Amino acid sequence: MTTVLVTGGAGYIGSHACKVLSQAGFTPVTVDNLSTGWEQAVKFGPFEQGDLQDRVFLDQVFAKHKPVAVMHFAAFSQVGESMSDPGLYWRNNVFGSLTLIEATVAAGCTNFVFSSTCATYGEQDGVALTEESAQYPINAYGASKRAIEDILENFEASHGLQHVIFRYFNVAGADPEGEVGEFHQPETHLIPLVLDAIDGKRDALTIYGTDYETPDGTCIRDYVHVMDLVDAHVLGLNWLIEGKGSAAFNLGTGSGFSVREVIDSSRSITNRDVPIVEGTRRAGDCTKLVSGSAAARDQLGWAPKRSTMEAMVSDAWRWHQNGHYDR
Ligand code: UDP
Repeated sequence: MTTVLVTGGAGYIGSHACKVLSQAGFTPVTVDNLSTGWEQAVKFGPFEQGDLQDRVFLDQVFAKHKPVAVMHFAAFSQVGESMSDPGLYWRNNVFGSLTLIEATVAAGCTNFVFSSTCATYGEQDGVALTEESAQYPINAYGASKRAIEDILENFEASHGLQHVIFRYFNVAGADPEGEVGEFHQPETHLIPLVLDAIDGKRDALTIYGTDYETPDGTCIRDYVHVMDLVDAHVLGLNWLIEGKGSAAFNLGTGSGFSVREVIDSSRSITNRDVPIVEGTRRAGDCTKLVSGSAAARDQLGWAPKRSTMEAMVSDAWRWHQNGHYDR
């Protein structure tokens, strides 16, 4: 069996990636410090608990499992938190990734798939963002991911580290079979918070800013289903294994939804009311982030199947009602 190290495999996206990797015939080895992830989400392969900043731990994991590739999901990913505590993002995301990348090349592994973000692009006049768009992050989360992209480029030049960078837009939904799902504590992402407001787990959903220069005044994002997102990762992994070389791909659908549109869709899909409060802007938020996603489709052959708002909210709602993890 071909082994892939999956950092953050106990988290939301990483656990879904482990599922599709095992279905594709790989053995996913989860590496996770459980700071935000859940051991119960590790269902599809071995688990190694430890921190990416611990080089001795990483060397042992590489020696034990001899992975053909690394898929690196582990990171802090909250825009708001990155603005109030940027040091956390530079230490955890950048130093942790640097240590992982050094351990990867020291182990002679040359294939690396990296979770980056559309937040690396920053504010760009509402145009659809392509992989060639300039990267000017406006929050520390995006800056930390951009820095890791630079590290990967340097390590390709020095050590031949082949890498596929995926710049995610907004990931939503859950495994339709209900084996894994999104469960953050505390939750900060829009769709699970809307669902919390719907079923009374919180009093109301606060809309962060209604004075943006968009048709309804709220921010616009491009939502992609987590199952489609992780399918792209398997394609990216095979791309590297086939020796096609380093590349960067946006993963979004090219369609933008405002915060109000997400709320309205959730209301009609669940047939339940969403109590809302109109609040002020959240530091670090861009007005509009929408993907030009042709490269992933044309070059990787990525074909998103579930990334409609209907499927994303329905799958998230089903998970929300039935699934959760405990410490
Ligand atoms: N948002 C909001 N209220 C919330 C959480 C998020 O209005 O309680 C907005 C947020 O300002 C952004 C969009 O929803 O415009 C998506 O935010 P999320 O945190 O889900 O993802 P991000 O775009 O930050 O990665």
